Amino acid sequence: MAILKLTDICKDYQQGKEPVRVLKNVDLNVEPGEYLAIMGPSGSGKSTLLKILAGVMFPTQGDVSVRGSIAPLIELGAGFDMELTAKENIYLNGAILGYDRAFMDQHFEEIVEFSELREFINVPLKNFSSGMIARLGFAVATIIKAEILIVDEVLAVGDFRFQEKCKAKIAELLSGGTTLLFVSHSAEQVKELCSKAAWLDHGNLMAFGDTAEVYAMYEKKYNG
Ligand code: ADP
Ligand code: MG
Repeated sequence: MAILKLTDICKDYQQGKEPVRVLKNVDLNVEPGEYLAIMGPSGSGKSTLLKILAGVMFPTQGDVSVRGSIAPLIELGAGFDMELTAKENIYLNGAILGYDRAFMDQHFEEIVEFSELREFINVPLKNFSSGMIARLGFAVATIIKAEILIVDEVLAVGDFRFQEKCKAKIAELLSGGTTLLFVSHSAEQVKELCSKAAWLDHGNLMAFGDTAEVYAMYEKKYNG
């Protein structure tokens, strides 16, 4: 039984006066424990598809079925308020992710530790660099181990050492049969991690299957 199932998904965004269709009749099935890469050029609809799967956005048309908890690592810090301090934003972001105050109290120390932002914890976020904001967002989003992990190009967080730390954290979250949906600029990462791949181009699902086969078609189209 599929853990994620998309049926005939379309998504329109309002751009000026006209609705523009950025996902076009996409069908996708993901089995439990599968690692699926979503490939495609910039603007092809990858993040939109992941937001629909994560339930943070509704499709214009089609059905979404999800049979498990989801930890979405998409647009880290999107729910942050720049006027509030890092500490206040940790609680705010926790509330957005559906955690109560007691749960956040319990995990606060772990979040501060992981983010390496202890000395800035009472500083308003407007004084943070984008890398610091992403570090904080990653630290909050990864406190629970969900059945489905969505990773949308977030491995470019911070410096090389911090990226390695994020990769180790993701490996920990993936242990024990977690399902993964993965978007990365790095073909090496995708090939190493994902056995299956879905390829989007202008909102059309061009291919879905074995990663090596989908990559071969993909490279032929864009580099051939
Ligand atoms: P990708 O993640 O593959 O780069 P996106 O899903 O972010 O693609 O974007 C798909 C298309 O939708 C792009 O043309 C983008 O400009 C457009 N788009 C994304 N978000 C919005 C939005 N909030 N409003 C209008 N258009 C959007
Ligand atoms: Mg994107």
